[in-house]
Amino acid sequence: MKPPGFPLPPGAVIGIIGGGQLGRMAAMAAARLGYKCHIFSPEPDGPASQVAYLSTIADYTDHVALHRFAEAVDVITFEFENVPADGLELLTSMKPVRPGPEILRLSQDRLLEKRFLNEIGIATAPWAEIHDEAGLAEAAALLGLPAVLKTTRLGYDGKGQAMLRGTADFSAALRQLQPKPLVLEGFIDFACEISVIVARGEDGMIAAFDPVENRHKHHILDLTLAPARLEPEQLAEAARMARHIAEKLGLIGLLAVEMFVDRNGNLLVNEIAPRPHNSGHWTLDACPASQFELHIRAVAGLPLPPAIRHSDAVMKNLVGPDDMALLPAILARPGLIPHLYGKAEARPGRKMGHFTRLFPRGSLPGEFGISDAISV
Ligand code: AMP
Repeated sequence: MKPPGFPLPPGAVIGIIGGGQLGRMAAMAAARLGYKCHIFSPEPDGPASQVAYLSTIADYTDHVALHRFAEAVDVITFEFENVPADGLELLTSMKPVRPGPEILRLSQDRLLEKRFLNEIGIATAPWAEIHDEAGLAEAAALLGLPAVLKTTRLGYDGKGQAMLRGTADFSAALRQLQPKPLVLEGFIDFACEISVIVARGEDGMIAAFDPVENRHKHHILDLTLAPARLEPEQLAEAARMARHIAEKLGLIGLLAVEMFVDRNGNLLVNEIAPRPHNSGHWTLDACPASQFELHIRAVAGLPLPPAIRHSDAVMKNLVGPDDMALLPAILARPGLIPHLYGKAEARPGRKMGHFTRLFPRGSLPGEFGISDAISV
């Protein structure tokens, strides 16, 4: 059968690699636009499969399954970007992959990512490539201590990194973090962490959501405040940086750009992720078109609506059994908008859902008001 071409007509099938909550919310947005989603995931009955048209349950290294999956879909996108390179090549040879494979390769590797960002004029924390203890000692002397040593691949939610406070920490961190090379980053004593989510369509049109502030607990995102409470010039600069990155990447799809705001107000990019992002979940409730809708629209070749925010918002993640124990109280409290991911077991550290609290635009409360607004 002839592939339908872009823009995809209603009824077309979008293949999503990864079966977690990001895939679930993307599939729900796709359904609203008349598309069917086919999920590829190693996990049976995962969050995305529960709401999708079809699922292939297989490992990301299973080329026979990847081949069959690619045959059955019209376009391929990701909610999980760490697909091995040869599998990615196979998919790319068969169907359009959006965002493209070069962007995925870049975001899979912190060294490539930082090199690219610096080359296009985007500031990051100072960094150095590390192969061994001698190199680490030399780089630490240059960048200063404390510093953060990170793996280049598969690091998320604070995994794959070690804080170096003194030279006594070097050899244990080098032993523990694999594979080499690693990347050493100067420690940023940040005032806050923010992110910008930007979508770019196949016509080059860009839509950027307002920058938001992110707060972590035990290295896992806990709260997102929308919008970030920064100076207007900083907000504009953060949006400009995200747009610039999307343009230079030739992105078709969605990109989350995480940044530190240092004590002098400078913006430094920490990480980019070419997919919907936890710090964009607030857009489901506070925007006419969410990050998931913009992702699907870009991937399907549809026009992008502007990333308008009609309300201010606080998003709170529900992580592990402790937060899930609060569910009855959350459901009983008017004004909290719950989103659950359908995960059977609430293991510690596992993201089970989130809730959003909306405020009229321009009236995000101060610290005390925020904790009151989300307390249950
Ligand atoms: P990452 O895995 O790079 O997203 O880092 C996870 C979290 O660790 C970030 O959100 C920061 O809170 C913290 N972190 C990472 N790199 C640095 C750094 N260079 N300086 C200070 N904090 C950092």
